Amino acid sequence: MLYIQHNDLTRFVASIFSQIACSSEESQRIAHYLVSANLSGHDSHGVVRVPRYVQMKHEGAVIADQQVKVVSDTPVIAVLDGGYGFGQSVAPQATRIGIDKCKQFGLSAITLRNAGHIGRVGDFAEMAAAEGLVSVHFVNAAGSILVAPFGGVDRRFSTAPFCVGLPRPGKSPLILDFATSVVAEGKVLVASQGGKQIPPDALIGPDGTMGSNPELLYGKYEATGPRDHRKGEGAIRAFGEHKGSGLAVMCELLGGALSGTGATSPGRPFANGMMSLFIDPARIDPTPFFPSEVDRYISYLKASRLADPEAEILMPGETEERYREQRRREGCPLPADTWQSIVECAKREGLSEQLIPQTLREPYRSHH
Ligand code: NAD
Repeated sequence: MLYIQHNDLTRFVASIFSQIACSSEESQRIAHYLVSANLSGHDSHGVVRVPRYVQMKHEGAVIADQQVKVVSDTPVIAVLDGGYGFGQSVAPQATRIGIDKCKQFGLSAITLRNAGHIGRVGDFAEMAAAEGLVSVHFVNAAGSILVAPFGGVDRRFSTAPFCVGLPRPGKSPLILDFATSVVAEGKVLVASQGGKQIPPDALIGPDGTMGSNPELLYGKYEATGPRDHRKGEGAIRAFGEHKGSGLAVMCELLGGALSGTGATSPGRPFANGMMSLFIDPARIDPTPFFPSEVDRYISYLKASRLADPEAEILMPGETEERYREQRRREGCPLPADTWQSIVECAKREGLSEQLIPQTLREPYRSHH
């Protein structure tokens, strides 16, 4: 494992996107959000994606410096088209519009169609929570067909994430943010490379047998060869049996169909679709009851006897907050292969060697 300080990593990643003709503002945004995913412990949505994003830009699958186009607009609703812009540009623009409308009227909804990969959805719930707003996000990833519905064996869903943010005055918000599949594809990839194994029921084969062998997703592969998820005959399973599968249906239909992106289906280009709702809790309850009741209830939950005395009861968002605290101090850990692939990508794009930052073989200590 290599460790790299998050500011160095952000600067380096931004310089790669500047090199491929993204504006310096957009390059900063892409780097900021990717590194934020690493800091939050979601490495599958972090800088590991740099070579893929660069490739998509070269292929024209994602377009630099897009502004969301307003398709239609009412005081409380905005229908937005991301025009296949980088998700790290168009998703915060869409979220900004939703926040501004909600601040005026206490409630708003936005849909965003045809966004490039928006990464960690929790970032946008955090953006709303920082302004005192509750938000709910239904997202799909049209073109990324990976997950079987409950009762089926064929791939029909994307990993369609769902997210809710709840602000707490003067405290960190609660951020519930997950893929509706048992595991994200990135976790199957890691397992196929000898990393952390996935749960024994994470995948399903064409005969209905559950398993954790990555070949179900990738077909036969060489240890060091590429992984192509179109080659396997199996699928990732939706989480939570019929309930999680039902939530995935809603993410596909609200995030995908209602936004105009389209639900995940063959022949669609990769795009994230999102429907977000924003609610100002202070308009519903201007008294201190809600924030104090949230605090009281969290304490009550945490006072439950533990199933495992070594474990702990955590609220949504707490894991990510702990990772951020640790990784800001110690640096972001990256497997050597991942780092190598980013450095090679930077060199291919002609980035000067001097812009490649130092890494350490152990965590940075707090005196750094
Ligand atoms: P996950 O399985 O790690 O679950 C994360 C959620 O569970 C968080 O809300 C976290 O606070 C909470 N949590 C984690 N451990 C907990 C514990 N011990 N007790 C209580 N709560 C706990 O997340 P995931 O499904 O792997 O998703 C990872 C990320 O991938 C998310 O940020 C998601 O938005 C993103 N994603 C994006 C796309 C896309 O197309 N853009 C697709 C899929 C997923």
